[in-house]
Amino acid sequence: MKTQLSTVVSPETRQAYTRLGDVTGLTLTDLLTAAVPLLERHCRQAELVVGYIRLDRWGDLDASAVCPECDQPFGDLPWIAVRGNGITCAPVCSRCATSE
Ligand SMILES: [Zn+2]
Repeated sequence: MKTQLSTVVSPETRQAYTRLGDVTGLTLTDLLTAAVPLLERHCRQAELVVGYIRLDRWGDLDASAVCPECDQPFGDLPWIAVRGNGITCAPVCSRCATSE
């Protein structure tokens, strides 16, 4: 028996799930049961900043470039936040990287 996704998802999404089911041999229910906890964990980790890395050299930015978080000049070398899923954020100034 083939399970149909609700009409709330686009035809492209339904087709993508159908292709995934064909490739894996899994039912739609099995796919969603496996995917939802993974997506939940991914989204939760995506919000978590696990630390900051201070850049060692200027690239195309310089001390007069404006920090996207506080709209002030960087002054010192920029810092990059690393999220729990490994994604990094835009560079911020040392003040923004060290404040809560
Ligand atoms: Zn800043």
